[in-house]
Amino acid sequence: MGGMVELQNVLVNLRYFALGPITASFGYRTYNVILGPTGSGKSTLLKVIAGIYRASSGKVVIDGVDVTREPPEHRDVAYVPQGYAVFDHMSVYENIEYGLRFRGIPKDKRRELVLSIARDLGIEYLLGRKAVNLSGGEQQRVALARALIIKPKVLLLDEPLSMLDRETRDRIMPLLRELPSKYGVTVIHVTHDWDEAYSLADRLFIMNNGNIVEEGDPEQVFSRPRNVFTARFLGFQNIIKGIAEVTDNGSIIRAGNILFHHDEKVSGDVYVCIRPEWIEILSNEEAPSDDHNVFRGVVTEVIRSRLGYQVLVSISNDIVFTVLSKNALKPGEEVLLAIPRKSLHVIRAS
Ligand code: ADP
Ligand code: MG
Repeated sequence: MGGMVELQNVLVNLRYFALGPITASFGYRTYNVILGPTGSGKSTLLKVIAGIYRASSGKVVIDGVDVTREPPEHRDVAYVPQGYAVFDHMSVYENIEYGLRFRGIPKDKRRELVLSIARDLGIEYLLGRKAVNLSGGEQQRVALARALIIKPKVLLLDEPLSMLDRETRDRIMPLLRELPSKYGVTVIHVTHDWDEAYSLADRLFIMNNGNIVEEGDPEQVFSRPRNVFTARFLGFQNIIKGIAEVTDNGSIIRAGNILFHHDEKVSGDVYVCIRPEWIEILSNEEAPSDDHNVFRGVVTEVIRSRLGYQVLVSISNDIVFTVLSKNALKPGEEVLLAIPRKSLHVIRAS
């Protein structure tokens, strides 16, 4: 069985931008996050699913029905655009009721539905207010209520948390997370924020230059990305180009005048990808174990961050590692770096 939303070779041609061709499937009642940098085409992708943009070719299939030529209102899709999606001049009550008014639902029934969804989202107290004076978090809840009240099969959220402060975001996240199970909806949420993506996604899609370049389980994508763009985008600050050769128990990878030992057998052009937090800094007395790649280097720069110190260590002329350290090291200090062999992530260059 296919997913709730299926994109089959979907292409959208805008004047200066082309999206796709994209083939992807978003499962029933799952939380899907599409993560990509600004300008990668995330909003365009949501708009073609919503029916705001027309696909130049390919098909959009929702719940088994080809909706490629259907207008937005025939798609069972609710779309919450980027920025605040509430009508300022209306009351909160009218905002939430809005989608029901065109569906011939009697007034009493409408009232019951509005009250029930407002209760669910904790915004009953706002119903009589004008939408214009709401805080960011309140507006976002109202926008969600307005989208959910029509009982869509698919909910499209365009950067729903990006304008909220951290605390408000942390309060809204659990509410988003439960949408698929509570409302039986398939969520497609786009963002450029990887913390958000990691916390929310059942399935994660990475977008670059108008295409989905990678898809998978969030844990897998974050620790073992298949592609160098993804690795760089997700915080692998150490990406080193090298040439691999198979050995008896794995491979060796030559990069400039340094050598990595790797447990898996690979050969040819590769990228060695290492997260800063995977690299250990050894004190001079500590003996490195042989299941580590060990390099001697000199500290060139130290930047304080919330998680510790980000330290640049120069290993040779053209190789500098970024390492996360608990201690403030000093530029000029000599250090020994140890990288567990099994943590090396190697991507074949194609
Ligand atoms: P994202 O949401 O990932 O930041 P968008 O989908 O908004 O990216 O935009 C992708 C590219 O398409 C951008 O270069 C943008 O300028 C362009 N674009 C978006 N909408 C239109 C449009 N209606 N007409 C022409 N170009 C557009
Ligand atoms: Mg956008």
